Amino acid sequence: MVATEIETARRLVLGSARVVVLTGAGISTDSGIPDFRGPNGLWTKNPKAELTSNIGYYVSDPEIRRLAWQGRIAWMERRPEPNPGHLALVALERQGRLDTLVTQNIDGLHQAAGSDPSRVVEIHGTMREVVCLSCGERQPTDPVLDRVRSGDDDPTCLACGGLLKSATISFGQSLVQADLDRALGAASVADLLLAVGSTLSVYPVAHMVPIAYEAGARVVIVNAGPTDFDRLADVVVRGSISEALPAVVAEDGAGVE
Ligand code: ZN
Repeated sequence: MVATEIETARRLVLGSARVVVLTGAGISTDSGIPDFRGPNGLWTKNPKAELTSNIGYYVSDPEIRRLAWQGRIAWMERRPEPNPGHLALVALERQGRLDTLVTQNIDGLHQAAGSDPSRVVEIHGTMREVVCLSCGERQPTDPVLDRVRSGDDDPTCLACGGLLKSATISFGQSLVQADLDRALGAASVADLLLAVGSTLSVYPVAHMVPIAYEAGARVVIVNAGPTDFDRLADVVVRGSISEALPAVVAEDGAGVE
């Protein structure tokens, strides 16, 4: 059954010259990155960890900041690697079909897989960089985590003394308007929108799907479970993303079982 849907999706992708992709947490679960609110989600198992993603708590409570840095260290030590789902999108780019890759993920795994960073829009920011909440200076995350490991458990900006935070969009923070404009703009000129591993329930980025649909684009959805926009899709592929996506982007169909 799913083979039929994969073949339909594959032909639609093959017939497209300007594919815009939106990815969510589901593409990274096969890299061992747990989601947040699922049965084994980070926040389900440790409700206090959710507070580290809230800017109000983060700014006002040093304990929350310490918890956030320790969480980052634990994440980095698991050394998540890109999986075949990420690599499939690199293949799509090399075929010349990928216009823009918008991701809700903060894990940096698309770039780690080899996606051209200039085509990637990280709509919720990235944990690979740290930003100063006072002067705005950005720096790579690793040196800051080294400071934490050395005992500086609530590190501050070396330039201005301000609070440091992962360059992610926390609850209570606005999206970067330029990134949002780029994501929605790409959707409006796509000839195919490929949504992968997202329930398509987080706004405003989920608007990409109806925007593309209204503009006449084909819509292909690959996700383990139902999404809020399955009704707009030309085809919905349900199943393992790391298995299905390589088959969906295969030019010769060899990946289709
Ligand atoms: Zn600063």
